[in-house]
Amino acid sequence: MWSVVHRGGVHGSPQPRRAACPGSWRGFAAQTALVRTIEWLTASRLHSRYRAMLAFDRLPRASRRRRRERRLAALLRQARRRVPLWRERLAHLGPAALADPIASLATLPPLTKDDLREGFPQRLVDPVHSHNTRMVSSSGTADRVSLIHDFDKRDTARAAELRVLHRLLGRPLGGRSVELPPDACNILCGIEDPQAQPVSALLRRALFGADPTAREQARRALRGRLERSALFARTVLPPLAPAPWPDLVAQLDDRLDRIAALRPRLLRGLPLYLVWLAQRAEQRGITLPGLERIAPFGGLLSPHMAARVERAFGARFVNAYGSSELGSVAVGCGHSPFMHLFEDLFIVEIEDGGRPVPDGQPGRLLITDLSNRAMPLLRYAPGDVAIRLRGPCPCGLDTERILVCGREQERLTSAADDAVDAIELLDLAFAHPALINVAYEQRGDRLTARVVTLERGDEICRSLAASLAARFGPRVRVRTTTVLRPEASGKYRTARRSARP
Ligand SMILES: [Zn+2]
Repeated sequence: MWSVVHRGGVHGSPQPRRAACPGSWRGFAAQTALVRTIEWLTASRLHSRYRAMLAFDRLPRASRRRRRERRLAALLRQARRRVPLWRERLAHLGPAALADPIASLATLPPLTKDDLREGFPQRLVDPVHSHNTRMVSSSGTADRVSLIHDFDKRDTARAAELRVLHRLLGRPLGGRSVELPPDACNILCGIEDPQAQPVSALLRRALFGADPTAREQARRALRGRLERSALFARTVLPPLAPAPWPDLVAQLDDRLDRIAALRPRLLRGLPLYLVWLAQRAEQRGITLPGLERIAPFGGLLSPHMAARVERAFGARFVNAYGSSELGSVAVGCGHSPFMHLFEDLFIVEIEDGGRPVPDGQPGRLLITDLSNRAMPLLRYAPGDVAIRLRGPCPCGLDTERILVCGREQERLTSAADDAVDAIELLDLAFAHPALINVAYEQRGDRLTARVVTLERGDEICRSLAASLAARFGPRVRVRTTTVLRPEASGKYRTARRSARP
């Protein structure tokens, strides 16, 4: 098994620097007032939920467990009563079983993406909770799934975003962030404001609109506008089109110039984008003053990738995990690559072949979403491999921590028949400073790695082949290529495996 290395130099300083900008506290105060306005504009309890989330994390472990058990028991009862799939799957549980809902949960089969595709929506949605809902889709193409979120789930997910910002930056408001997601349409199409009316016009309609529907629409549009531009102060930049490095450079220069002009406190991006931006920033001697934190968006960075990004930008890398179907699930604290689970919102299990995996060992990640009442997700398998840790963290929190090691479909098999996850495969390759992308393919006992390098790759190929041979046996081949293509979702696949030689 690949062990998680605590990189003191990388994750050593847990506390973010305070923003140097003297106006940022004025911005903070203005934005706090803005949260109140957003709560007034809608039925949102964004700010109070966010405060409650921070308070929950500080509760003693026994109190947290009692609260989670109560929420889970209520969810199990509701799902069994009103959702056809859960009526069948929970039929074997008698009323006494709900006295220990976490143990009862473990008796259910995992909820797979196939279950979601086959059962959506009739078998999965609670009709009582299906008012004011919105459909969300996961990224990806082949394994894309659709889900329903009601207003309450959306409000909780937004509050959890504030919690992520709080953990990353020391406070949730008053700082700009820049994001480079893999597939901008996922993000941008959902937040597009087709009638780009001035805020004053929207406010007039929200207050004095002719009919209640128009007032409600104006309130929603206003809330969305305020949230994006002022509350989360987030700028989303377009994704990078795949190209050989000499052609990629123009795109990287454009994004770097735009990021430098925006002076963000937080930079989030697809992991490979972050590595390429870091590489180009070093080549051009660009620094990003004011940047405090870097976090991934839609994938994972291995320790060597994180170290490269930190060195180039002079800011700490902190892990974060979430998805469109679940919202933000966990965020790091800077003490290790592990992330603190949002225990009030999710129950996490790690299993292998139907059996629980001990803490510290990798296995299939199962997540129960305690806040989606419209479409209960019990033991949902998002397709990721993870490790769980329990016990106190040096940051002072003692909530459960997880580390995501890669996608299940990217697992390879070593010569000793161990599972090898994407995070280890990436780290083996990105140990070479001039390497900027890699794709593995395993057929039977033969492993091929295609690599993109910034300089002549002979030496890198020889050296990587030697380290791979130590793990996968002698039938290893490494060759260079000029460009690797992402999947249709815009994400890059690290590895694929086929049983036939
Ligand atoms: Zn911690």
